[in-house]
Amino acid sequence: KLINDSWKLDNSYARLPEIFFSKITPNSVSSPKLVILNHDLARKLGLDIAELQGIDGVNILSGNKIPNGSLPIAQAYAGHQFGYFTMLGDGRALLLGEQITPLGQRYDIQLKGAGRTPYSRGGDGKAAIQPMLREYIISEGMNGLGIPTTRSLAVTLTGEQIIRETQLKGGVLTRIASSHIRVGTFEYAAKWGTNNELKSLADYTIERHFSYIKDEKNPYILLLQEVIKRQAYLIAKWQLVGFIHGVMNTDNMTISGETIDYGPCAFMDTYSPSTVFSSIDVHGRYAYENQPKIAAWNLARFAETLLPLLHKDQNKAVDLAQELISEFSSLYYDEWIKGMRCKLGMFNEELEDKDIIEELLNMMEKNKADYTNTFRGLTLDCLEDMDLFKTEEFSKWKAKWQDRLKRQGESKEQAYSLMKNSNPSIIPRNHRVEEALGAAEKGDYEVMKKLLKVLLQPYEYSYEQEAYSVLSKNTNNNYKTFC
Ligand code: AMP
Ligand code: MG
Ligand code: MG
Repeated sequence: KLINDSWKLDNSYARLPEIFFSKITPNSVSSPKLVILNHDLARKLGLDIAELQGIDGVNILSGNKIPNGSLPIAQAYAGHQFGYFTMLGDGRALLLGEQITPLGQRYDIQLKGAGRTPYSRGGDGKAAIQPMLREYIISEGMNGLGIPTTRSLAVTLTGEQIIRETQLKGGVLTRIASSHIRVGTFEYAAKWGTNNELKSLADYTIERHFSYIKDEKNPYILLLQEVIKRQAYLIAKWQLVGFIHGVMNTDNMTISGETIDYGPCAFMDTYSPSTVFSSIDVHGRYAYENQPKIAAWNLARFAETLLPLLHKDQNKAVDLAQELISEFSSLYYDEWIKGMRCKLGMFNEELEDKDIIEELLNMMEKNKADYTNTFRGLTLDCLEDMDLFKTEEFSKWKAKWQDRLKRQGESKEQAYSLMKNSNPSIIPRNHRVEEALGAAEKGDYEVMKKLLKVLLQPYEYSYEQEAYSVLSKNTNNNYKTFC
């Protein structure tokens, strides 16, 4: 029994029909050690920091002990991986339950790397510390940028060696999500569940994420529409900051609209639409420029799972689904151009805005300009240190852009202030992330903590951020990421 227990766990997912999960007995590890704890997030969740840092807390955050009220499960799901359908499930993750926060919100508490589950197939269920720390940094960086995402509460070292190509230190990430329901969860239900089981999942999802539609005549049509809207918003946000997810398989797409599964993801430095970082994405399926199309493809897989619920007449259901899916591209584009206008200080809309934006992007590509720092330079009106800014073409563009800004009611100061709030001065740069992970490997976590601190305030244009906007000497799009 734990004293001073701040866990307030419910297990609503475990009340779904039992095809959706398996109960788990966690496996214990030898000598767990807390390496990083997210104090702000712990507070938001209503968890006591001293308690989490204590022996019981560390045992919980590494899967050794189960907190009061927890009913540990692994979730079942399927998914299309690189276009091919397959059965998956939490192979190395364990859901402790849902923490009810002091404000009454519900968040999944999941341990990633906590050992084998019935869905592990050939895998060991474990994770190496480095990718768990990487997920911690990038997910918290995304949160700092204001992009919907799962969060990271803690990383622990398990004290065990795990076997990959070499021996690596084992780690466990505690991941927080508004839920872990994925497009792949619905694909699983549609493929192996009865219509009633599918309906249970849909009703549960509506109750949990879209309770405002539950009294509609056909809430499932609205469910599809809402998920499409949230994904259009999310992908636009990714594109606007140059985030490349790297494995947009349908099992890695949430229904809540949060970014999930930070495996081979990375931020683009040099602007090049065909950028791919993932070592396994040999055909560039998940390249930067493909992300909106892939999202629509994934949403079509989601729509297919809902067909039995959309209409009694399946032909009509297909028509309905197709109509909604076809709206994705304009929903996405509207979000994207809205974001681009903000990045360029535009308050109102003019027909030629699209041309101004595209001309800039084309120049950036031609001149191999850094994506984030181009907008940073424009925001600071500091146009010396990039080749792009020295071209005649850019001068012409700049005059046109400035004229455009003069035609709106807002002052120049207001325009620049909008730009500051819309253009991050820093992103989790690949070389900075690597530097932090390298230090962590040697037992120094201070580099990572400093990085995390600035990533919390990416829209600050202060001295601290300045240092983190400097590019790596050996930039960069050859950077390779691994799952
Ligand atoms: P991911 O690439 O992280 O999205 O994982 C794809 C699937 O493989 C998920 O079902 C994971 O749970 C599973 N998986 C990944 N790594 C392991 C592992 N070491 N042991 C067991 N299952 C794993
Ligand atoms: Mg079961
Ligand atoms: Mg995954």
